Amino acid sequence: MHDLSPTAAVTRGSDELFARARAVTPGGVNSPVRAFNAVGGTPRFIRSAQGPWLTDVDGNRYVDLICSWGPMLLGHAHPAVVAAVQEAVSRGTSYGTPTEGEVALVEEIVARTPVERLRLVSSGTEATMSAIRLARGFTGRDVVVKFAGCYHGHVDSLLAAAGSGLTTFSIPGTPGVPASSTELTLVLPYNDREAVAAAFREYGDRIACLITEAAPGNMGVVPPTPGFNAFLAETCRNHGALFISDEVMTGFRASRQGQWGLDGAREGWAPDLMTFGKVMGGGFPAAAFGGRADVMAHLAPEGPVYQAGTLSGNPVATAAGLATLRAATGDVYARLDEVADALRAGVVDAFTAAGLPHVIQSTGSMFSVFLTDPADGPVSTFAEAQRTDVAAYGAFFHAMLDRGVHLPPSAYEAWFVSSSHDDRAVDHVLDALPAAAKAAAA
Ligand code: PLP
Repeated sequence: MHDLSPTAAVTRGSDELFARARAVTPGGVNSPVRAFNAVGGTPRFIRSAQGPWLTDVDGNRYVDLICSWGPMLLGHAHPAVVAAVQEAVSRGTSYGTPTEGEVALVEEIVARTPVERLRLVSSGTEATMSAIRLARGFTGRDVVVKFAGCYHGHVDSLLAAAGSGLTTFSIPGTPGVPASSTELTLVLPYNDREAVAAAFREYGDRIACLITEAAPGNMGVVPPTPGFNAFLAETCRNHGALFISDEVMTGFRASRQGQWGLDGAREGWAPDLMTFGKVMGGGFPAAAFGGRADVMAHLAPEGPVYQAGTLSGNPVATAAGLATLRAATGDVYARLDEVADALRAGVVDAFTAAGLPHVIQSTGSMFSVFLTDPADGPVSTFAEAQRTDVAAYGAFFHAMLDRGVHLPPSAYEAWFVSSSHDDRAVDHVLDALPAAAKAAAA
């Protein structure tokens, strides 16, 4: 056993930095979930990270189950990635001209996925935004279909909430997005084939594309029901719309070939366009969108649809991404599965012993824990995900944090593991779980 007495950690350094940060940055953070608003308390300011461990500015150490919200597939400061980055940096950091590294990274992604042509960008948001623009330019249509609970970055037209009826156009999901930006977006319930069929019956000849997370991870992990993605691909094809599979989170994580490796590759279909990010940047800002060669041919400079970026294909980011993907061998994916299996089993044991109702859902090694009643069945829509007990998760989160385990500070996020999570790190989490489950049940 490790020493798991709650540290009620000394957080003076994080407290001071958070106060300084709030004076100069909205909420003190550069991406909202980091502020701990959903769980309360002070976010830990991290000074360094190695393998599966984070060390904060007060010297507290945590097993990391955020992994930068997905990118750190190999763990932190992986030697091959660090070496590739150092080598790249020594040759200059950005040229604004083409490089061999970009070609190699794109070739690696083309080899693993069904995309025929790929364009590099700097964030997942840029990837989905550009894919939608391309789909509209290619089809000459305007309407976009998305699912409630799926997040595709902070693209205006995708920050939309469902309207009052199933097939009515949506309303902005945040102030700052004009109604005109979402009035061409249809938001449907996930995993609901009838809603999809009805939307296409009514608006089929106006729909440019349907975009979905390949397996949603942004409302907790809500896997597609068997055949759902194939159904979406076929429905789009039947109506001349493009099927965009957003693999920013699942790409190169759910499997070597992402979520597509778990369904499309087996079932024999491919999306028209795909988006990638996170793992393919190896912890640097790199993302991509790509797909059918005839669709991608519509992109500037080959075609008329404009898209560009000063730092797109940045040599340091592409070096980190390429080193990450090249190191992500079968052994890495086997270890990810082992770690996830051990953690899922530990959660089941601890939560069952504490009498805490729960449902665990996964795709590959990505999983999340819903604090919902298993008698209500699996979580298959955003409405069902919202039944999770947010207050109990907050108590659980802090009890784990006090025992040196950094979970995502929100009940609606996936837990991410890395291949660097060795037995010591896994045991540390397993040892922390029983007391944290009790704290959540109290
Ligand atoms: N798409 C999905 C599925 C995501 O999970 C995210 C981010 O979490 C994005 C797009 C946006 O990516 P980024 O945060 O790099 O803009």
